[in-house]
Amino acid sequence: MAGPKANELMEKIVSLCKRRGFIFQSSEIYGGINGFWDYGPLGAELKRNVKELWWRSMTQLREDVVGLEASIIMHPKIWEASGHTSTFSDPMVDCLGCRKRFRADQIEPRSGTAYSYGGATDNAAVELIVSRILHGGPSPARQIFEDALRQEPEEEQRYKLAVGALLNSSDAGLVRLGEEMGSLLQKRVRVDEPFSVLLPPGKQADSARKAAKQFYHQRGVSNAKPFGERAGNVEITTRYCNECGSLLTEPRQFNLMFKTYVGPVEDPDSVAYLRPETAQAIFAQFKTVLEVSRQKVPFGICQIGKAFRNEINPRNYTFRSREFEQMELEFFIRPDEVVEKLAGSVAKHSEGMDLSTPRPTWGWEVWHRYWMEQRLNWYYSIGLPAKSLSCYWQSREKNELAHYAKACVDIQFDFPFGTQELEGIAARGDFDLAQHQKFSGKSMEYFDEEARTKYVPHVIEPSAGVDRLILALICHAYSEDQAPDEKGNPETRVVMRFHPRVAPVKVAVFPLLKNRPELVQKARQVRDLLRPHLTVFYDETGAIGRRYRRQDEAGTPFGVTIDFDTLGEKGPELKETVTLRERDSMKQERVKTADLPSLLLEKVR
Ligand code: ATP
Repeated sequence: MAGPKANELMEKIVSLCKRRGFIFQSSEIYGGINGFWDYGPLGAELKRNVKELWWRSMTQLREDVVGLEASIIMHPKIWEASGHTSTFSDPMVDCLGCRKRFRADQIEPRSGTAYSYGGATDNAAVELIVSRILHGGPSPARQIFEDALRQEPEEEQRYKLAVGALLNSSDAGLVRLGEEMGSLLQKRVRVDEPFSVLLPPGKQADSARKAAKQFYHQRGVSNAKPFGERAGNVEITTRYCNECGSLLTEPRQFNLMFKTYVGPVEDPDSVAYLRPETAQAIFAQFKTVLEVSRQKVPFGICQIGKAFRNEINPRNYTFRSREFEQMELEFFIRPDEVVEKLAGSVAKHSEGMDLSTPRPTWGWEVWHRYWMEQRLNWYYSIGLPAKSLSCYWQSREKNELAHYAKACVDIQFDFPFGTQELEGIAARGDFDLAQHQKFSGKSMEYFDEEARTKYVPHVIEPSAGVDRLILALICHAYSEDQAPDEKGNPETRVVMRFHPRVAPVKVAVFPLLKNRPELVQKARQVRDLLRPHLTVFYDETGAIGRRYRRQDEAGTPFGVTIDFDTLGEKGPELKETVTLRERDSMKQERVKTADLPSLLLEKVR
């Protein structure tokens, strides 16, 4: 669980992201829209870099993977075949008190004392009469009410008892009073809906009564008097709201797909969905891509694109959004029987096995491990260290694994708010292609020339979220250290320690002084020299130390300063050299201007 320190860190990160233009709330001028985010100038660059690096490593640097860019809205049958229409849902609960909605499986178990109520009444009119009788002088009516008070602790029952006694009396005046009260009791507002609230140990019962009053007030009982209070200890329950303690409704399934209509008529035949994942387009186009790419199994098709899920409770900043991007690969392999037929046996995974070069003997299990290793290596290559990542194997016993999946491992990152999934790598058998074959009536079989047999290929699916990865990179990059300010006094420096490969801006170019045209002109020349090769940011305003700090916050790994030495004012040996400053160590070295492009390119590739 995230503690106060982690919350504080997240607050700093969120504020930096906003201030420096990494991430903004979508539609902010209208108060934002929950679960949707925009990437500002730095965020957009960061995202592009990440997607390009993924694309390069997945397809351009490989022989056996090709790319696809499919439409977001597809034929609705796709989602029937994939199972999304019937089962892509999360259990949802509503809080009876604060009315917020939550995912039932995300409620944290709590213990405490549960106060339950049977309902509430509004007895204001009756009470008015009763208080007048009780506060008047001694009378037979007062006697009746005092008797009832002694016999019945429950207010509801007490009134009934008193009314009965009044009606049975031989005094006409008392009978009239009984009739009046009886009709008031009948007319009063009464709600019989049960309600309960969980109080943590040590909290006063009064706050439960207050919550109950509020609950019944919302249901139309204005002077609500909850009745039938019962209290009991409850251990480790997920039936109560984590925010206000009120009872939650029973969970019901909520389909996460965004629905829309295609064409001008809003009828059931024109219903379509925004894709909840990019993968299905790859399966649907499997045959077409196979034909045009002339690939042979094993081979893969990859795609980067938007996906949409109407998440019940978007949270943890961009971690769970309603619109996000995925980077997915479907890697098609031979079924194990075919591998066995061809190679004589199927290699199984063993600890320490060499996974660097695929072999014809590999069965699904080794291919799955191969992709796990490939993906982890890729994360290391963009600056997420092994110690921040972990692998979680989904378990069949805990119902985490889809019924058709042979295995699924989640690559997780240690976010400040907890260790959470970045990417899932699933061995999905032939489920998806077989389903599309069934629903479309089109063959998804592949003729394997080497094995002289036809089969529906099996698949390994590494599926990563771009936005979650961006958040992981930002959280990992954020750091604070001490650096001297303009007067040489230590101050806290915020540095985004992005790996140069993903850093939004690779190099910043500064003339030492803005008011010296020779410096400015030279600095602009250096900027233009670098611009065709790298993302450059040019900045001439403010003290040089301040300009460095601004770039440290943006995560720019290198800074180039043009000073009087560059102009040769202190001697010919330093002419045409610049100061190159490294963000993390703050070390500065003198390098030749002409060497800058090759030197920097080597560092950022
Ligand atoms: P979770 O269990 O967190 O909802 P999932 O297991 O349903 O995720 P997948 O369907 O396997 O996720 O999707 C693959 C990847 O897509 C995830 O690993 C994640 O990086 C990303 N992803 C899924 N849902 C979201 C979301 N709501 N916001 C941002 N990224 C998401």
